Amino acid sequence: MQNNHSSKHSNLNNLDRHKKPAIFIDRDGTIIEYVAYLNKLENLVLYPFSYEAIAMINRSDYLGIVVTNQPVVAMNLCDINMVEKMHNKMESLLKQHGCYLDHIFFCPHHPDKRHLSNNEYFDNVKLEEEENLIYNKECECRKPAIGMIEKAKSIYNIDMDNSWIIGDTTRDIQTGINAGIKTALVRTGKAGTDNRYKVTPDFVFDNLKEAVNFIINCS
Ligand SMILES: [Mg+2]
Ligand SMILES: [Zn+2]
Repeated sequence: MQNNHSSKHSNLNNLDRHKKPAIFIDRDGTIIEYVAYLNKLENLVLYPFSYEAIAMINRSDYLGIVVTNQPVVAMNLCDINMVEKMHNKMESLLKQHGCYLDHIFFCPHHPDKRHLSNNEYFDNVKLEEEENLIYNKECECRKPAIGMIEKAKSIYNIDMDNSWIIGDTTRDIQTGINAGIKTALVRTGKAGTDNRYKVTPDFVFDNLKEAVNFIINCS
């Protein structure tokens, strides 16, 4: 009994010791160029600084985890396979530069059904309302909800006290606040001009590389 007890105790200590902090990163406007309702592979372009930023994360103790809302699926602008193709493209490009993301989480949902009847972005796509309607719902993963971060916590042993979120919108900052982690806004993409949430980020940086550099080397 005594042995069991003490070995349990030391396992707990080991779990604590092996915790890793994470940098949760938004995708559109943060890693890749902002394109409204991106649904075409050829329009996915990484910012040039993203490679170095993610390589810096890979050389550090931090996990690099993407958390991205992709309502384009619920809005029928593309299907889940296309989102996965885009992520494959992003990961191949990173791999060519010798870096990688530890995980990519995306939310394909959107709670609003109004866009199905009146949306300029439907002009050049075939609207098949039935197909993606299952994603047209409230969910726990759409930022600023923290479902994707919770999911990451269930997979990785994350040191949340030292974790960050980096994004280009107040929605990302609100997500970080909701998750109780430190927040960094970048001046790329929307650069905080979405003004959706009344939030103040802990830090503001010119871009992802500046943010990652500060987090790893100065915080
Ligand atoms: Mg964004
Ligand atoms: Zn969702």
